[in-house]
Amino acid sequence: MEVAAGGMRRREDLVSFEPYSWEPSTEEIARSVGLRPSRIVRMDTNVSPYAPVRVLEELARRLPRLKVNQYPDTSYRELRELLADYAGWDQELIVPTNGADEGIDIISSAFLRAGLEAISPVPTYSYFRVSTELQGARFVPVERGEDFSFSAEQLLERYNENTAVIWICDPNNPTGNQVEEGTVRRLCEETEALVVVDEAYFEFSGRTSLGLLRDYPNVCVVRTLSKAFGLAGLRIGYVLCTEEVARELNKARPPNSLGTVNVAGALIALRNRSYVSKVVEEIVGERERLFGELSRIDGLKVFPSNANFLLIRFRSAEEAAAVKERLLRSGIVVRTFPGNPRLGDCIRVTVCSRRENERFLRSLKSALEELRQGSPHRAS
Ligand code: PMP
Repeated sequence: MEVAAGGMRRREDLVSFEPYSWEPSTEEIARSVGLRPSRIVRMDTNVSPYAPVRVLEELARRLPRLKVNQYPDTSYRELRELLADYAGWDQELIVPTNGADEGIDIISSAFLRAGLEAISPVPTYSYFRVSTELQGARFVPVERGEDFSFSAEQLLERYNENTAVIWICDPNNPTGNQVEEGTVRRLCEETEALVVVDEAYFEFSGRTSLGLLRDYPNVCVVRTLSKAFGLAGLRIGYVLCTEEVARELNKARPPNSLGTVNVAGALIALRNRSYVSKVVEEIVGERERLFGELSRIDGLKVFPSNANFLLIRFRSAEEAAAVKERLLRSGIVVRTFPGNPRLGDCIRVTVCSRRENERFLRSLKSALEELRQGSPHRAS
């Protein structure tokens, strides 16, 4: 135990802990660049460009009848029924969560503690490390290759008797690629760790590891309504489990973490979900168009993506940072990875509506033109 100035005991393992870096609010960004919030395009959070208005209208009609003076149904029965229908999985083996992040946290608290380890191929979703370390467990990163792929062997080399969890993001945030068929199966087969497949971007890839849950006890799939469903603000996630995993997660989950209003919104969205496939179709089409357009720009490397974002590599970390800054001044927010040895020269951009993507392309091209004027790398 460590005692901080002022005399409060605190966890010594968190003294130099690096927390998740939160995105600033749209209002804050608008203020910092002197624009109206409505001019800001968030291309940094990988969410849908569309709030599902019909879902919200229906929710508004139902609001007066919601019993918000009562706690929600802590078994989330109706939500589990609809998620079961959507995902094609047994409702008894679904654990609804307050966003996928809470799903990750519940998994960590059920399976990790000091002395145990969690392996993950990196770069990947940074919350895996945060959630692991908050349990006092050790996060073991395994570097992905040049194209951000990884093999089962690479992870198995780091597997030992203390490995309790293997985190796999598929498609991977922030690189957009998918795990090779067979890799997750091998990890389930050859380890006793819980293999967690984070499929937050599942709808954009259409590929899932859910089938493995029929063959192995030690695997689960984490998903969310934050992305393709356009409901990031409602905070609804879920974990598709085997019996063995559901039993453990139900020990660790808080009783009332999903609000009644949020659940009501999710139920409406799940009952009227035809809009989701339309959004996915549009975003996937725009992703491929944007990929083509960006690939034609001199000096950029664009990584193929199965999600709703693209990772773009620039000539240098300085160029990536300068582009981000210039885009920001025109109201476009993208994600950079300052200090990350693998991704310092990259930006990640969320595929948005056609108009927004066009605005991004125009601003990017003019930023690059401005920056490369007189630069030694100047395009021929
Ligand atoms: N997993 C991954 C891979 C993500 O990119 C995100 C979104 N940042 C999450 C989980 C968290 O999603 P949610 O909004 O459902 O908490």
